[in-house]
Amino acid sequence: MFEIQPKLTSLEPKDVGEEVARELVIIGGGPAGLTAAIYAGRARLDTLVIGGPLPGGYLANTYAVENYPGFPEGLSGAELAQRFQGQADRFGAQIIPEEAIEVDFSVRPFEIHTQRRTYRALSVIVATGAAPRRLNVPGETEFYGRGVSACATCDGFFYRDKRVAVVGGGDSAVDEAIFLTRFATKVIIIHRRDELRATEIYRERALANPKIRFVWDTVVEEILGTQTVEGLRVRNVKTDELSDIDVDGVFVYIGMVPKTDIVTGQLELDDQGYIVSTPRQHASVPGVFVAGDVQDPHYRQIVVAAGTGAIAAMEAERFLCRFPEGVCEFPGGEW
Ligand code: NAP
Repeated sequence: MFEIQPKLTSLEPKDVGEEVARELVIIGGGPAGLTAAIYAGRARLDTLVIGGPLPGGYLANTYAVENYPGFPEGLSGAELAQRFQGQADRFGAQIIPEEAIEVDFSVRPFEIHTQRRTYRALSVIVATGAAPRRLNVPGETEFYGRGVSACATCDGFFYRDKRVAVVGGGDSAVDEAIFLTRFATKVIIIHRRDELRATEIYRERALANPKIRFVWDTVVEEILGTQTVEGLRVRNVKTDELSDIDVDGVFVYIGMVPKTDIVTGQLELDDQGYIVSTPRQHASVPGVFVAGDVQDPHYRQIVVAAGTGAIAAMEAERFLCRFPEGVCEFPGGEW
């Protein structure tokens, strides 16, 4: 683990050309970034959220959210994203629909470049999220949200008494396939090799589950359907034989890709490419914090992303000597 270095000596907003550096710039407008904005706004930090072109991030594409506390009836991802945004807005955070394309964390104030201009910040929260790796086969984009999903927790419920396929052989694929057996009559795991990558306990459980069937050495060539998914065209990689499998939905779990392009080379990443974070959401550069899926290879839940966003904002407050009142130094070695 990296060492936390001493913080900036001067934390007063600085004039930079025509601009005044923001106290906090949040990169990413998903649950983590917007929760950080709510906390930062309430703390009266001068906060800018570079939210990207699709406010709400990946959440906005989620058909239904039924496991976010406080909404027992469930709501759409787009509505939840709007609520996050409205709340951040209410407390004064400015949210702009631009995309950060480059950052420089070696200068103080930090610089964040978008297509339109350069923003400067005394502290930054990186909450750029992660994207599910795509199969890149015909039908995948067309049927996304209409039978193609990357979130069994979100969408599994809609496959009660139906047949579904899960693509992948890692922990996520097998864990989610087991979860899907609560709803589906049959869950077919399609894996490109004849051995699972998933850990032993998942293997044992999946192999013992009568609702799960494995299709080994096989890749998906095409997702078939008219209005919604009706089946998959698959190819056996050993024989090259093509065949069709009837399913009502397909869950793609072939890994996540953390969105770290702009911070690569500036922040420490782990061997899977996620930003390394302390338990208090500090990244490897003092004054840069990290929240949500870009630092989370495990949970990828809205509530978890929101939680880390809240922590990151409180730590930014602390870094800016705002929280708690009068405390201005990092407690050495606490992280
Ligand atoms: P992962 O471990 O990277 O597994 C991805 C799977 O997808 C692998 O089986 C891989 O095949 C397959 N794959 C990759 N690209 C593919 C492609 N283009 N076409 C077809 N198949 C492809 O990803 P993950 O399962 O999402 O897990 C990510 C991390 O989260 C891991 O560290 C995992 O341990 C952790 N996790 C933990 C838990 C838990 O502990 N409860 C639950 C979920 C995830 P190959 O095997 O042939 O490479």
